[in-house]
Amino acid sequence: MSQGTLFIVSAPSGAGKTSLVRELIESLDGIQVSVSHTTRAKREGEVDGVNYHFTHVADFEAMIERGEFFEYAKVFDNYYGTSRRAAQTVLDAGQDVILEIDWQGAQQVREQIPSAVSIFILPPSRSELERRLSNRGTDEHAVIARRMRDAVSEMSHFDEYDYLVINDDFTTALQALQSLVISRRLTREAMQARHAPLLDALLSQAPSVE
Ligand code: 5GP
Repeated sequence: MSQGTLFIVSAPSGAGKTSLVRELIESLDGIQVSVSHTTRAKREGEVDGVNYHFTHVADFEAMIERGEFFEYAKVFDNYYGTSRRAAQTVLDAGQDVILEIDWQGAQQVREQIPSAVSIFILPPSRSELERRLSNRGTDEHAVIARRMRDAVSEMSHFDEYDYLVINDDFTTALQALQSLVISRRLTREAMQARHAPLLDALLSQAPSVE
């Protein structure tokens, strides 16, 4: 069976990555998001095993010791990581996988899988980013300032990625993501792996009817 493609999607908080990825996998067949492990607290509405595998620090560190992570990083004081099993199970089924991870994880994945396709999602402007980061409830000025600093730090790695998508209009950004997945599936290499019997039949010199 042909292996799927690994897509890395990174973005600063406030760029709309999670909504875009959710819509992307709903709109296309054969693509799934890998569910990460994290030690951060569950937010309201999040479901264990769906949004993340919520894990105690000691258990996460034991998984690191056992080499169970494909990649992991400390992001904003918490651990986040993709287990080898989570990514491999989907890839082996011939499905494409999306890893929603930060720039540190992206670097680790590229080292191991150079054919991974990496995409960075950007907000349309600094003021819009600020607006999105301050719109998340009754946060203090210092909290918002910290989020802005973290966002700028994440965005400073944009030039390590293959593709940039600006999320100004949601539908346009979604179409850009869909195009990237579809064009990857149409590369000769991917088509050849997926349609070997068709290519054999088309190129055969034997008459197909007597
Ligand atoms: P949040 O806590 O808002 O869900 O995610 C915070 C950050 O952690 C985001 O930048 C997100 O991309 C990153 N992240 C989520 N899962 C993983 C993971 O498995 N590995 C790495 N390296 N980063 C992750």
